[in-house]
Amino acid sequence: MDRFDTDSRLIFIHADMDAFFAAVEILDDPSLAGKPLIIGHPGPRGVVSTASYEARKYRVHSALPSVEAMRRCPEGIWRSPRGARYQQVSRQVMGVFEEFTPEVEPLSLDEAFLGIEGSLRLFGGAVTIARQLRQRVHQVTGGLTISVGVAPNKFLAKLASDLQKPDGLTVVDPDRIQQLLDPLPVEKIWGVGPRTRDALHHIGLREIRHLRRAGRELLVRHLGESSGHHLWQLAHGEDHRSISTERGSRSISRESTFEIDIQRGAASDGFLREAAEEVARSLRDENLRARTVRLKVRTGSFRTMSRSLTLDMPTQEPGPLFETARSLLAEVELEGEGIRLLGLGTGNLIPQSSPLQPGLFEDRAAAQRQQVVSQLLDRSRRIEGGAGLERGKLLSKPPEDSTTVDSKRRDDPTGG
Ligand SMILES: [Mg+2]
Repeated sequence: MDRFDTDSRLIFIHADMDAFFAAVEILDDPSLAGKPLIIGHPGPRGVVSTASYEARKYRVHSALPSVEAMRRCPEGIWRSPRGARYQQVSRQVMGVFEEFTPEVEPLSLDEAFLGIEGSLRLFGGAVTIARQLRQRVHQVTGGLTISVGVAPNKFLAKLASDLQKPDGLTVVDPDRIQQLLDPLPVEKIWGVGPRTRDALHHIGLREIRHLRRAGRELLVRHLGESSGHHLWQLAHGEDHRSISTERGSRSISRESTFEIDIQRGAASDGFLREAAEEVARSLRDENLRARTVRLKVRTGSFRTMSRSLTLDMPTQEPGPLFETARSLLAEVELEGEGIRLLGLGTGNLIPQSSPLQPGLFEDRAAAQRQQVVSQLLDRSRRIEGGAGLERGKLLSKPPEDSTTVDSKRRDDPTGG
C-alpha cells in the first residue's frame, strides 16, 4: 500500500517497454546482454530502429542513419528487426494491460495509456496497480522490464513514465504538478518535437516555466489558437483528453497490382501520389490523422516486403503520405526486379481533434494552405461525385485498384 493509493485523482497510467526491440533480442539471446546492441539494417540507406542502453551511451538512438550509428559506435552489434516476434511479445504485454482495465489505448507496439479510474477499488489504488502491472509484464514476457507513469492525466502520465527509464515507476503528486513541470525542458512536453523546440528556444522559451510565464496570448500568437492554447494548458499540467480505445486498431490503405510490372521512378511516384490522395481523403472523411505510414511492395518474383515509418506530425494530407512512402520505397532492395504490387497504408490513427501537432508551428502557413486545398477537393468531390478538381497531375489509373479500411492490426513496430 502506497500513500498515493488513497488519492482518487490518480486515474491514468502510461506504460512503455524499455528499449523494446533490443530487449526482446536480449531475451531470446542472453549473450547480447550488456552489449551495445543496435536493431536495424546497417546498410547505407538503413536507419536505427532501437538501440540498447549500452549503445545509447554512444549517442546511438532510434531513427539515426545506420552509417552515422556505425561511426559513433564501431563496436555495435547489429541485429535485423524481427517484426513478427515483437508483435507476439506486444500481444502478451497488451494482454497484461487488459488484466487491469478494459480502457487500454495502445500508442505503438510497446506502449499504451491505461484508464484506471474504474479499477482503483478492485486493486487497491493506482500505485498498487502500477506495481502489479510491472511485475506481471516481467513474469509473462519472461523477464522484460517496463517503465510506468501514474498521473491525474494522460500528458503527465506519459511524461512521468519517461522520467526514470529504464525499469522505472514514477508517480506524479497531484499537489505538486507545477513544481515537477517548471524546471523541465520544453521538449519534455508530449508533441513538442525538435523543430518546435528550436522555434520555442528562438523566442527564449526553454523550460516549461517559461511557457507558463509567457502567457497564453504569446503562445497563441506564435502557435495559432489551437496549438498555442493546448501548449499553455499542458505547461500548467492540464490535459482533458480521455482514453480512446478505438485508436490504433485500424488502418486505411490503398494497394494495386499492376498488369505489367512497373519500375521505381516516375511510374511508382504516380501511383503513390494517387494513393496518397485517396488515403488522405479517407482519413479526412473519418476525421482521423495517421501517425504511421506503411509501404507494401511485391516484386515480379513475388517477394513481398513492407516498410513503415512513424511521423513526427500526424497527418491527413497527401503530401507527407506521398513523401514518406516514396522515401520508404527508395530503401527497398528491388535487386533489379520490377514492381508487381504497391500499397500505401496508414496506421496508428488518431482523432483529428487531438491538438498540438508537433512541427505545425513552423509549417503552419504551408499546412493551412494544404488544408484549404484539401477542403476544396473534398467539397468538389461531394458536389460532383468525384469528378471534380484534382491536385496536380495524376498518372493514369492502374488496374485492380482497391482502397481498403481494415481493423486487423494493432500497430506497426516503432521501437523505443
Ligand atoms: Mg518503449
